[in-house]
Amino acid sequence: MTKRVAEPRLFAEPQAARAPAPTTTLADVVFDRPIDQVYTYSVPADLSVRPGVRVSLPFGRGDKIDTGYVVNVHGVRPPREVKSIVRVLDNTPLITEELLKLTRWVADYYLCGWGQALQAVLPAGVRDQAGTRNIAFVEAVAKEQLPNPLPELTPKQAVVLEHARRIDGPVEQSHLARAAKCTTAIIGVLVEKGYLRRDKRRVEREPNADDHAMTEEVSQPITMNAEQQTAWTQIEEALRTGGFHPFLVHGVTASGKTELYLRAIEEVIRHGKQAVVLVPEISLTPQTIARFKGRCGQVAVLHSNLSDAERGAQWRAVAAGQVQVIVGARSAVFAPCSRLGLVVVDEEHENTFKQETTPRYHGRDVAVMRARLEGVPVLLGSATPSLESWHNAQKGHYGLLSLTSRVLDRPLPPVHLIDLRHERPAGAISPPLEKAMRQTLAAGAQVMLLLNRRGFNTTVHCPNCGYVAPCDYCDISLTFHRQRQALVCHYCGFEKAPMTTCPICQRDAMKYFGLGTEKLHNELSEKFPGYEIRRMDSDTMSKPGSHAKVLDDFRAGKVHVLMGTQMIAKGLDFPNVTLVGVVNADIALHIPDFRAGERTFQLLAQVAGRAGRGPRGGKVLIQTYAPEHPGISYAVKHDYLGFVSQEMPQRELHQYPPYQRLARLIVRSEKMEQAAEFAERLAGAFRLGEQPGVRVLGPAECPVHKLNGYYRYHFQLQSTGSTALHHVLKTVLATVRPPSSVEFQTDVDAYAMM
Ligand code: ADP
Ligand code: ZN
Repeated sequence: MTKRVAEPRLFAEPQAARAPAPTTTLADVVFDRPIDQVYTYSVPADLSVRPGVRVSLPFGRGDKIDTGYVVNVHGVRPPREVKSIVRVLDNTPLITEELLKLTRWVADYYLCGWGQALQAVLPAGVRDQAGTRNIAFVEAVAKEQLPNPLPELTPKQAVVLEHARRIDGPVEQSHLARAAKCTTAIIGVLVEKGYLRRDKRRVEREPNADDHAMTEEVSQPITMNAEQQTAWTQIEEALRTGGFHPFLVHGVTASGKTELYLRAIEEVIRHGKQAVVLVPEISLTPQTIARFKGRCGQVAVLHSNLSDAERGAQWRAVAAGQVQVIVGARSAVFAPCSRLGLVVVDEEHENTFKQETTPRYHGRDVAVMRARLEGVPVLLGSATPSLESWHNAQKGHYGLLSLTSRVLDRPLPPVHLIDLRHERPAGAISPPLEKAMRQTLAAGAQVMLLLNRRGFNTTVHCPNCGYVAPCDYCDISLTFHRQRQALVCHYCGFEKAPMTTCPICQRDAMKYFGLGTEKLHNELSEKFPGYEIRRMDSDTMSKPGSHAKVLDDFRAGKVHVLMGTQMIAKGLDFPNVTLVGVVNADIALHIPDFRAGERTFQLLAQVAGRAGRGPRGGKVLIQTYAPEHPGISYAVKHDYLGFVSQEMPQRELHQYPPYQRLARLIVRSEKMEQAAEFAERLAGAFRLGEQPGVRVLGPAECPVHKLNGYYRYHFQLQSTGSTALHHVLKTVLATVRPPSSVEFQTDVDAYAMM
């Protein structure tokens, strides 16, 4: 039995869209393609279209029927013959006028098709008008039921299969496709090869379905401290006068930043308007959600674990004005609210706001642009602001609101370094860290341990000939995962069986070393018997709800030690945690990326912020081989300003952001020479078209030269301003075409450098 949930019919049948015959109308339409071009069509007299609706129309040489987005309606007939729209797909525009403007900007700035930007904005569940319907589910076939012999898999198929296996039980096909970033065709192949089972199920729509309906905290009214009060006065003023007012809220961990957001949101709601709040995906914990729900009326939460139907329902509720606050990760910046009053970006320095597929937008930067287009205040908050935002605040583009101390005069925890060059621990945990853990646990308090590397051993090598086991498809050494009994590539997902014999010198001598979270977990279980130790990383947290479960258990005191990757570092608030340990602070320090120091500083400052949030206080111990590195030494002192004042001159010297704009161009091909050649040619074209204020660096092999079977080359454009940069990009890219075996991507304001 399926149940149909009665809902207002926001999307009537297409036929209902017919209106009394108007005069000749023309519509400008864009398509989900990597071309930034608008096509004009005529609108038959019996159809009515508005900007923001989708239409069916003939496209291309064969006049195949395709779907396009109407972006403009007018009466100016172009000089050539125009084709006609065949059908109108949406009765009500799915895209508001504001979102049309915003996506236009995204296409211009991040250099993609307007249609691609629109496609990315609109959740699949809305495009499909997902409601009660048949949905394809797939499930990994149990190992013992697999066909014999096992059919071969391509790396991409192996990745998809890996994703499916990590999910326990059936999953929506489209959900898997999204999670594994693949087409449903690949899933189809896996079904054919017998690795996946597929069946259709009828799914009912649950509007506002919420997996963790927590009892909402009814919080006591808080009296703001002096710093909060000062900041609030400025925010309130901005809300009252209206218009675009960007603020950077720089407040140490637990200084009461969120309290400021909540007040601002309450104020906006009182005036009948809506607020959009962006948080990093991993901060979307039940605790965060409950906090917003407890204070802010109707809250829609947009996170990646929603099914298409749920996401569609949330989107429609927002569009219909039934929701006051939208809390979500990156893509929530495109929420279709028509009465926007405020935008908040928490942890604005987080790199996960940057999307690494087309359109390669940065959620924070789009948030600021949206606030500007719609004339509303925007709050960017962080304990460790990105240098970009800091620079904007220094130049006076953003108002700076500083909260320099924790609420209730709680001290920031003291941070001590453990110099591994002197300590040389036998395992992962040095004696001072072990001692501190024992004291903490004996006192009935809790411990968090950060190790930002998953797996058991990080390297598999032959001491005889020096061979290091690499991925078959990438220039990356494989990580041993003991539970899965596999060597895994952390870049493409390729897996193979662990080996004991060296494939080069044939000696039975392969050694496994290097420390990952799985091994750390083992060591802790041996050292601390009788204590409950839980690991949180993307291997243990792949099932929906597992994250919430561990955190609930930790809060309830059932777990004594919570260890894991950066997942544990962000935004969590556990008053009983009095010790935070960092097992190896140096992991991100030596990667070839000009932001390596900034990232290390941010991660350490964030994880240190998890300690001593309650009345019992707390401390932080950081193990490192590089205690003098500024990314570490300033984190020890909680000294953001100190870090910034030594890092900024470096950036200026090397003409890196925030002083310059940067675009990265990545060229790839399965054929190495062709990739190298085209990279040279493309960089050459940029050199020829070089403008004052723009320089070309490269090309060179990417730090990860081979990835997923592709050979990769890159170069950078650096420019004093985005106008010059975009001018050069647009002029040059219009003149070059890669050979058919070569692809390239343009990443404006690139964050990924590998
Ligand atoms: P941040 O966002 O900077 O980490 P929060 O706003 O989450 O800080 O505040 C940390 C904790 O302190 C929360 O539990 C919050 O309710 C509480 N809090 C915030 N401001 C005050 C205040 N002025 N007095 C007492 N408690 C406060
Ligand atoms: Zn690989």
